[in-house]
Amino acid sequence: MSLQFEVESCAPSGGRRAQLSLPHGTVQTPVFMPVGTAATVKAVPQDVLEKIGPRVQGSGSSEPEGESVTDGSGAQIILANTYHLYLRPGHELIRRAGGVHRFMSWERPMLTDSGGFQVFSLAKLRKITPEGVEFRSHIDGSKHFFSPEHSMAVQIALGADIMMVFDECVETPASWERTRDSMGLTHAWAERSRAYWVEHRGEVPWAREGSGPRAQGPECGSASSGPWPLNAGPLSGKHQALFGIVQGGMYVDLRKESAERLVEMDFPGYAIGGLAVGEPREVTREMIARTLEWLPKDKPRYVMGVGYPDEIEEYARMGVDMMDCVLPTRAGRHGLLFVREDPADRRSAVVRLNIKKLDNAEDQGPIDAGCACSTCGRYSRAYLRHLFASGEPLGATLNSIHNLHFYLETMERVRGELAGGVEVKGEGEEGKSNSLDAEFGKFKRQVSRSKAGA
Ligand SMILES: [Zn+2]
Repeated sequence: MSLQFEVESCAPSGGRRAQLSLPHGTVQTPVFMPVGTAATVKAVPQDVLEKIGPRVQGSGSSEPEGESVTDGSGAQIILANTYHLYLRPGHELIRRAGGVHRFMSWERPMLTDSGGFQVFSLAKLRKITPEGVEFRSHIDGSKHFFSPEHSMAVQIALGADIMMVFDECVETPASWERTRDSMGLTHAWAERSRAYWVEHRGEVPWAREGSGPRAQGPECGSASSGPWPLNAGPLSGKHQALFGIVQGGMYVDLRKESAERLVEMDFPGYAIGGLAVGEPREVTREMIARTLEWLPKDKPRYVMGVGYPDEIEEYARMGVDMMDCVLPTRAGRHGLLFVREDPADRRSAVVRLNIKKLDNAEDQGPIDAGCACSTCGRYSRAYLRHLFASGEPLGATLNSIHNLHFYLETMERVRGELAGGVEVKGEGEEGKSNSLDAEFGKFKRQVSRSKAGA
C-alpha cells in the first residue's frame, strides 16, 4: 500500500482530522504544504524546514532523535514543480541522482504537480492538440512537448510520493462552452495519465531501494559488494500515488460533472484545480464547498494554490485536507509578514506587517510577540527592517521562516480543534478576511498571476 488515509474525527462543519500515510512518512491533516519550486523552498535550507512550526501532535516525527525540545516538527510534506525541474536541471539528471528526495536531501513526503499549470501560465507560444501541448521554455525559448504520458514519465523520474494528472488550465474568465471543452480534454488526459501511471509506477527511482541518501549503502567491511541490496529498505514494494484534478471553472454544473467523471476513474486522492486565479473569494469558497460534496469522504482532498492564512483555515474547516501556496515565502521575500492582531490570542485576526515601514526602524520588539518561531525568538523588527532595506539575503530567509511558521502553527491549531470537536468560525471572521483582502489587493493579483513560479 502506497497511500493510506485514515479519518480520525469529523467536525459538524465538514472538517476532518486525519492521517495520510505515504512512502516517505505519515502526514497529519489538514496540512499546509510549502512550495519548493525548483527543489528548494526559496531561501530556507532543508534542516531549517525540518524544525520550523510547532510540535505536531500525533506525528511520529514530532520527537526526532537528538533534536532540541525547542524545535518544532517542521514541514511534513513539500511540493516541487515538474515544469521547472524538467527544464532545469532535467528529470533524467534527477532520476540518476536517485529521485528528487535524494537530490535535495529531503527524506519526508513530497508532491509534484503535473507541469500543466506552468506550461499554461509561464511558457510561451503554446500549441494545444488532443495529443498534448507544444511550448517554448520561458528560460531559453527552446521547444518542448508535454503529453499526459510525458508528464507522468517526468514525475516518475522525479519520484515524489504524490503526483498529479496532466490537465489543461483554462484562462480566467472563460465562457461555459470554452470551460466545458477544456474539461473534456482534461478528462481524456486524466485517463491517459492514469493508464501510464498504472503501467509504469514500478519505475520510480526508489522503488527497489531503501529510503535516505545516507543510510542505504553496504557497511564498510561487510561481505556485500556491488549495488545496494534490492528490496531491502522501507520503500520496497511501495510506489507513487496519482491524484485526479477536478476542473470546471466557475460553473457548478461543470464542477459536478468533472468530479463525477474523475471519481469513476477511481484515483487515490482528488484535487480541486483552477481556483484562486483572480476570482472573488466568495466564488472560490462556493466552488470548493460544492465540489467537496461530490468527492469521496474516505480519500484525501487537495485544493491547489491557496491561500492566505485565514483562507487555509476556513477551507480546512470545510473539509479540505491539503493545500499549498507560495504566499508565505514570496511575501517574506517582499518584506510582508503575517501576524495576529492580538499576539496573545492565536485565533485573533490575521494582519499584515510591512517590515519596510519607517516606524519599524527602531522597534526592538519581535515581529509577533506571540510567535514561537526562531526569527521572533531572536531578532528585532529594527534588525529585520535593516536587512530588508540593505538587500541582505538573510532578511528573506528570516522573514520566510516566520511566515512558514505562522502557516504551520495555524494548521496545527486547526487540527487540534478538529480533533477536539471545537466548532470553528470566530465571530466577525468574514469581515476581517475582506479587509485583509483589500489590504493585500495588489500583491494578491501579482501572486495569482505568477504563483507557479514561486
Ligand atoms: Zn515568528
